[in-house]
Amino acid sequence: MARSSSQRAGQPKTGKRKDHLGGHVARKRFGQNFLVATDIIQEIIDAIDPRAGDTVVEIGPGLGALTEPLLSRMDHLHVVEIDRDLIARLRQRWPGGRLTVHEGDALAFDFAALKADGRLKIVGNLPYNISSPLLFHLVASAPVVYDMHFMLQKEVVDRMVAEPGSGDFGRLSVMLQYHYHMECLFTVPPGSFEPPPKVMSAIVRLIPRDKPVVGGTQKVGAGDMAIGESLLAKDEALFSRIVAAAFSQRRKMLRNTLREFFSEADLAALDITPTVRAEELGVADYVRLANTLASALTPAVAVKP
Ligand code: SAM
Repeated sequence: MARSSSQRAGQPKTGKRKDHLGGHVARKRFGQNFLVATDIIQEIIDAIDPRAGDTVVEIGPGLGALTEPLLSRMDHLHVVEIDRDLIARLRQRWPGGRLTVHEGDALAFDFAALKADGRLKIVGNLPYNISSPLLFHLVASAPVVYDMHFMLQKEVVDRMVAEPGSGDFGRLSVMLQYHYHMECLFTVPPGSFEPPPKVMSAIVRLIPRDKPVVGGTQKVGAGDMAIGESLLAKDEALFSRIVAAAFSQRRKMLRNTLREFFSEADLAALDITPTVRAEELGVADYVRLANTLASALTPAVAVKP
């Protein structure tokens, strides 16, 4: 169970709020809720634990609440920011070469291209309006990432780390648990931000699982447990399609949602009760389904997007 920082964070006094943003008007369309609670910021930096030699990239640096303490521990930092006003401020504040500002949409940014010799760490207090698509986009970089630490809506973090059988367990849980070990570190109350969001937030750590690679072994990431053969999808695109279909209508039974892929007899042969719902299967079950289908399909069908 994650710790709560609610007691320590407190609620910043209304009169102090304007000073925190230095005249910047928060833009809702960019999900701008700026961190202002110094004790929470410190806890996040401690959790990230940046070290000399690491390549760190921050998504959405905003007014620099995390950027500044990160730079106090590192020689160089990459940031990806979409808001031009904030980009101008960042460049003015850190004019030398210590901060590389990548101007643009994190959803289109190639994080894997930043991979250098050291550990690649991705961090950020993410814009909540694009958190799910961003998490899916980041999956492509998982093979070269060491770890990631994000602030997200607590409700999203609950879904990421949910266990099968719970109401929170869904497509996000299966797809992210397939790629990462995840841990909710602590929760953060609305009063820690300016403007305060309407929801509770939480800090989550994601560590890519080590996966064997065809034609050799690859040991990257901080995953302490190599992903077992039984948890390795032969065709990740097919795995993703099956998971999406299963959760497309949560209340329906798998014999209906997976009709396109499996007959009732196919499911029963795999020891999967055709009348169960998507949330009752675990990640390994979905991998098993995908691998059975991948083996049965002709190569031409298996590579269909
Ligand atoms: N890191 C700052 C903090 O903690 O106070 C700001 C966090 S604020 C929740 C989200 C930041 O992400 C804002 O700076 C916002 O402009 C930026 N942002 C929003 N959408 C983005 C996108 N698609 N790509 C890159 N940055 C984005």
